[in-house]
Amino acid sequence: NMATRPLIAGNWKMNGTGAGIEELARLKTLLEEAGTVESDIVVCPPATLIHRAAQTVEGGPIRIGGQDCHSSVNGAHTGDISAAMLLDAGASHVILGHSERRADHGETDSIVRSKCEAALSGGLIPIVCVGETETERGEGNANQVVAEQLRGSLPEHFGNTPIVVAYEPIWAIGTGKTATPADIEEMHGHIRELLIERFGRSGEAARLLYGGSVKSDNAGTILSTPNVNGALVGGASLKANDFFSIIVAA
Ligand code: PEP
Repeated sequence: NMATRPLIAGNWKMNGTGAGIEELARLKTLLEEAGTVESDIVVCPPATLIHRAAQTVEGGPIRIGGQDCHSSVNGAHTGDISAAMLLDAGASHVILGHSERRADHGETDSIVRSKCEAALSGGLIPIVCVGETETERGEGNANQVVAEQLRGSLPEHFGNTPIVVAYEPIWAIGTGKTATPADIEEMHGHIRELLIERFGRSGEAARLLYGGSVKSDNAGTILSTPNVNGALVGGASLKANDFFSIIVAA
């Protein structure tokens, strides 16, 4: 945990127009004023803002990510966006398999895996999301569900691209509920074991983000939990001050 530089990623979801760029500019200024940054920082705005966002953060520590990409390089896929397009617009990362995409767009593990392969060949760093529902946890199946999602959603090889997995219990997303530190520690330990089994040293080095109602007041505790190497932040990433205080807590 200590050796791994944390990654704090913000997911704006379907929020933000041009005016939202001001928050990003403000975040950049806050980070500049704070001096050295101990974490990697990625902000994932809607695709329409990626280019402007990338221009806004230029020269600073913030990097930009997409929230999804298509599994194909190009072609007849109206409304979709390829990894190459995200890269071209200025993104370095892409969130894949977010529970909202799995729910709203029927993304299965195998679809997420194809997207992940496309992201890797396109030169993006995927942030692959997994997480159980409240019912699955209640029935004692959380570990099994997450193991299955990881098995199906991650490609065979990451090459030289670092592995980033976000554990986001669905019942904790946007609800104000967070998993207990003990639950997070247990799940992240479980994920770590699975990644080491499958990817060896890259699994050891993988960054495991926690996501689900991370706010400035719980970020310190969550980010100091063993095998937690960062956070994926939804609501609290929209305001520069809130997101900045989470970054500082890391
Ligand atoms: C998310 O969308 O990935 C998320 C964790 O949202 P929130 O922080 O708002 O719960």
